[in-house]
Parts: sequence; structure tokens; C-alpha cells
Amino acid sequence: MNSDLEKIKKLRSELHYHNYLYYNLNKPIISDFEFDNKLKNLIKLEKNNPIYFDKNSPTQRVGGSISESFKTIIHNEPMYSLSNTYNKEEVFKWEERLIKILGDKKINYFCELKYDGASINLLYKNGELESATTRGDGIQGDDVTNNIKTISSIPLKLMGDYPNVFEIRGEIFLPIEGFNRMNVIRKSKGEPLYSNPRNTAAGSIKLKDSKVVAKRPLDCFLYTLSGESISINSHDYSLKKAKSWGFKVPEIFSLCNSIKDVLNFISLWENKRSELPYEIDGIVIKVNDFSQQSILGFTSKFPRWAIAYKFQAENVSTRLIDVKYQVGRTGALTPVAILDPVKISGTIVKRASLHNSDQIENLGLRIGDLVYVEKGGEIIPKIVGVDDLNRGLPDNKVRFIKFCPKCGSVLSRIKGEANYYCLNSNYCKPQIIGKILHYVSRKALDIEGLGSETVDLLYENQIVRKVSDLYSLKKNDLIKLERLAEKSVNNLLNNIEKSKTKPFSKVLFGLGIRHIGETVAKKISNKIGSFEKLSLLTEDEILKIDDVGIKIAKSIVGFFKDEENLRLINSLKDYGVKFEIENTNNLKSKVLNDIVFVISGVFKKYNRIELKDEIEKNGGKVSSSISKKTSYLIAGSNPGPSKIVKAKQNQIKIINENEFLKLIDISES
Ligand code: AMP
Ligand code: ZN
Repeated sequence: MNSDLEKIKKLRSELHYHNYLYYNLNKPIISDFEFDNKLKNLIKLEKNNPIYFDKNSPTQRVGGSISESFKTIIHNEPMYSLSNTYNKEEVFKWEERLIKILGDKKINYFCELKYDGASINLLYKNGELESATTRGDGIQGDDVTNNIKTISSIPLKLMGDYPNVFEIRGEIFLPIEGFNRMNVIRKSKGEPLYSNPRNTAAGSIKLKDSKVVAKRPLDCFLYTLSGESISINSHDYSLKKAKSWGFKVPEIFSLCNSIKDVLNFISLWENKRSELPYEIDGIVIKVNDFSQQSILGFTSKFPRWAIAYKFQAENVSTRLIDVKYQVGRTGALTPVAILDPVKISGTIVKRASLHNSDQIENLGLRIGDLVYVEKGGEIIPKIVGVDDLNRGLPDNKVRFIKFCPKCGSVLSRIKGEANYYCLNSNYCKPQIIGKILHYVSRKALDIEGLGSETVDLLYENQIVRKVSDLYSLKKNDLIKLERLAEKSVNNLLNNIEKSKTKPFSKVLFGLGIRHIGETVAKKISNKIGSFEKLSLLTEDEILKIDDVGIKIAKSIVGFFKDEENLRLINSLKDYGVKFEIENTNNLKSKVLNDIVFVISGVFKKYNRIELKDEIEKNGGKVSSSISKKTSYLIAGSNPGPSKIVKAKQNQIKIINENEFLKLIDISES
């Protein structure tokens, strides 16, 4: 056994070291094959010797733990944010503020790239990773240790002369290449693509299954050291030390002795940022000397000794090839620019949003123009300008279309709105499909199992042409369609049936009446109570509802004027979809449906009014005297003797308070 322990120890330390050479120094000295062999041996030995378990063994990097929820950890020191600016002048002003506090002592500045990811705080004790915490609200974060262990460049065991207990903070990020690879796989599976590396990195470290995290090519730079026993007096030296203990520290930096040099570093990387293998959103400038840092201290949110210079959203020029038009579920037309593919912040962009016809007009857009495309935090990039010296031919001016590209109807522009609309709402395919998808969406009737491809299939096979057709779907119609297995058909039909129990506010939202969002639907439903009543109101009366403006009021009145809409509502009503709020709006359950109770005596948990409420909240009824319809007599202490006698005569079951509680408990489980 002892020799097993020796072997295990040796393999662990070898693997930690080779991991460091590979991921942090990029200088492996053994082949992947040898590495994998050593790892396999270690896994085997550990399996045979569970008593030698080590939470920081290299074998723990593959993940395996599932966390239903993360433990909250309060940070030893708050995780501050950085004060930031987009303006070079402001950097000089920052220096002026520093000089006011520090006097004319020389200040050196340490410039680093501002990595665009998620911040992390690592605690090490006796050279081992103890915990990893997200920033959270800055005061406390989530314990994501198991997920973080899967990131190969984060050392689980340290080397050299590390302090006994300390923390180190940094940024977890997804290199662009790894991010793109993840998207290629998603695309091949027909899954929606991840929007950008930053969000994906932040989302990854909060995943429940650490095995999934282990598959994501996350990386991490660490740069802020803190702890009591650390006797280091500058930022640059702290990074050198951290590096010697095995951390991956920023590899691109500059120690500057003037703001002029700082601005040079900023300009350099503002131009070269697209050459980096990861995304950055600016430069962080830190006062290098720790004693100066401690004199400067913190405001309530930021350290005074650092500032972030943020880059403008990346802006690239490319050729406009075409403008296409999309029709949304409300009939609104969105122009989309088709571009000569171009790389922005590491992703290839082929399309950009053009908002509406006004934007096309304002830019005087022509096919063939060299346009500036910008990608901010949002998924879809936008066109922000045209290069005046590089225009397309005047003959190729983009003119907003006059007819719907899908159904050919004449488009119309509603007064006061920027959008053009196709008004053929009940017969224009993208509108029909959009309406159905909206109706079944999570926030509306929440009918799971109907993705856009299935709805398209149902449309093309002429099975569903409007929302109400969902309720006449037959198992046989569906099974015939390719792609739909019996089990999913059953689930789907079940979910459609369940939608009939959804409250009126969801139905009102689900109808997709233009401008009626989720919140407005709730307000109208609470205030007015039913579709019937809503249909009787005038524009002025509708305007009296909170948060309802003229656009909404007009849209509602317009909706009721359309015969087709009324037919749709009637058939939905016939199918049992709810068009009014229930009196028992705050119903807890339906477990006592159709059960009639008579109450007698005094109770422990409830007074009699509360008991009556509880029964009604669970769907039951309360009657004052016993009859043939009574299901139960609930008898507390000192019940009325006549009631007991009558109940017995009519063979009505008499239960006590506890038995009643069991009745409603059953419903809740
Ligand atoms: P912000 O989120 O814009 O307030 O910027 C502050 C955040 O930038 C910090 O919490 C870090 O997560 C992140 N950051 C990225 N790179 C660095 C760096 N080199 N030094 C300090 N913070 C950085
Ligand atoms: Zn149309």
C-alpha cells in the first residue's frame, strides 16, 4: 500500500508540473500521449486507494460534481469595480487627482489589458486551492470551486515560496478560437449560437455540472494579490512572484513613468486588439507602488489607484451587398443589411440590423457602399455610418420596398410610427408562424414542444394556420409528420390541453395584440377582468388603465374591429381557453374541487373564517348546514351536537382538523 501512496504522490506532482508547462508556459516537455498515460495510471491508483483522496489531485480537473445551488461566500475584502472612462483627457485628470493626494512623489503606472470575462477570487491555503468565488455583488459571491478546478491554467497546487494564506483575483475568459469552436458544434446540432465569449465565460462558471464546464476551453489571467503575510511592495513585483508560484499572469503589460507613455500603450492596443486571441474591452492602469496604493485607498465603489480606459465598441468597414426584409409577427418590417463577411471582435459578421426605413433614408444608403459596422454588447451588429469616399452608384440607392416580400400585400406606415407594416396579418406566413410561436412561448401559454421548425412543418402541411387550430390537433395528424415521435406528440397534446388552465392575463399577452406586453396584459386583466368587458371599452376608457398609452388603446380598439380576430377569440373560448379572470384568482390548488364542507367547533390552526378561506382557496365549498350534498363535516373541539347527529344520520364523514390538513397536503405534494 505504502508504495501505492508513493506512486500516487509522484504522479500527482509530475502531472501538476506538466500541466503548468503546457497551459501556463506553453512549453510542454512530454507528449500528450505520455501525459494521458500518467493521468490514466493515477486515476487507476486513486480508484484502488480511496483513502488517499485529494480534492486537488490532477484527476479532479475532469469535473463530475453536480451543484444544485452554489454556497454563498462573503469576500474577505470587497471585490471592487473600476472607475472607467472612454476619454484620454480623463486619464490626465485622474493623474491630477493622484498628485493632489500623493504630492509630488514620482508615480509609476502599470498598464494591463482589460480582459473581457468574469472576475474570480481564488483562496489558497498552504499552497493548495481552497476556494473560488465569483464576484457576485462585490460583497459576496458564489462558491464555484468545483467548476474552477476544471480550468487547466489555474494551479491546484503551488510551487516555490508562496505565502501560507492569500487570495488572488483575476478574470476568467474564453479565447476566441475556443468560443468559435463551441459555436461550430452548436450549429451542427441546430442549437442557437452563443452570442459572445464574455457572456459564455460568465455563464460557464455558473453551470451546475462541472463535467460540462471541463469541456469548455476556459482560461484565466490572475493579477491582484492580497493577504496579510505578503511582503511585496509593488504591483509588477507581485505579478513576478505570482508567476513563480505557478499562476498565469498578464503577459502583455507596460510599466510606464508618465501618462504620455500610458496613452501610447492604450493607442497601441486599441489598434492591435483584433490580433489578440481573446477579447479585451480596454486597458487598466494601476499605480504600481503598493504604499502609494494604500495612501490612495478606495471610494465606496472603486480603488482610487486604478482606472479603466475603455475602448469604443469595435467598428469595422465592409461592403453593403444587399438589403433584405424580415416580417415579424406583428407585421412590422425590419430591413437587414447583407454584408461582405467581415471579422469583428473575433466573429464573422454577415448581416447587420438597419432598424427602419428612416435609418436607410438618413444614411442615404446605396448598394455597394462601404459601411461602418459596429458590434456592441448586443448579438446583432448595426450599421453606424457610410464612408463618404467609397460610395455605391447613385442608381443603386436603397428604396424601402412597397409590398410585403412574403405575401405581396401593400405595406403601410402607421402615423407616428417608424415601421412599415404588412396588414395581411391572418394570411401572411411569417406573421402566422410568429403569432403561433408567441402564443406558445414561455411567458404566454407556455406550450412546450413547439419550436419554429415544428410550427413551420404544421403550417406547410396545412394542419395549423391559426392559433386556435392547435386545439383541434389530432394525434394521428401529428404522428404522420416526419420528425415527430409518439412520445413527443403525446407530450405536446398534453401541454396544449394544460394551456387551457392558464390565466387570462397570459392569454391576453399570448394573442400578440400589437404593443401589449406582459406587464400591460397583467394590468388590463386585473383591472378589467374579462375580454368581453375589454371589447366594450372606448379608447378613452382604455386610456384610464395604468401604464396604458394611446398606442396601446388604439391597438386594442383596432383589434376588436377585425372580424377575423373575433372569430379567433370565439373559437378559443369554445375550446376552453380562459378569457376572464377567475373569482378564485388566488386559488392555491384544486384538490377540494366539488367537495362541500360544513364546519363546526373551534380549531387550533385556523379560526373559522380562515378555515373557510383555506377550503375555498383549494377549490372547495363551505355550506352552513348539512344536506345530502355535504361531503365532510369538519369538527373542531366543542362541535354543535345537532350537526354531529345530522351528519351521522346522513352518513356524512366527520373529520378533525388534522385530517382536513392531510386532505390539502395531498394536493400540495
Ligand atoms: P467593470 O466591470 O467595467 O467595472 O470593470 C472592472 C472589472 O474589470 C474587474 O472587476 C475585473 O473583473 C475586470 N478586469 C479585466 N482585466 C482586468 C485587469 N487587468 N485588472 C483589473 N481588472 C480587470
Ligand atoms: Zn405579408
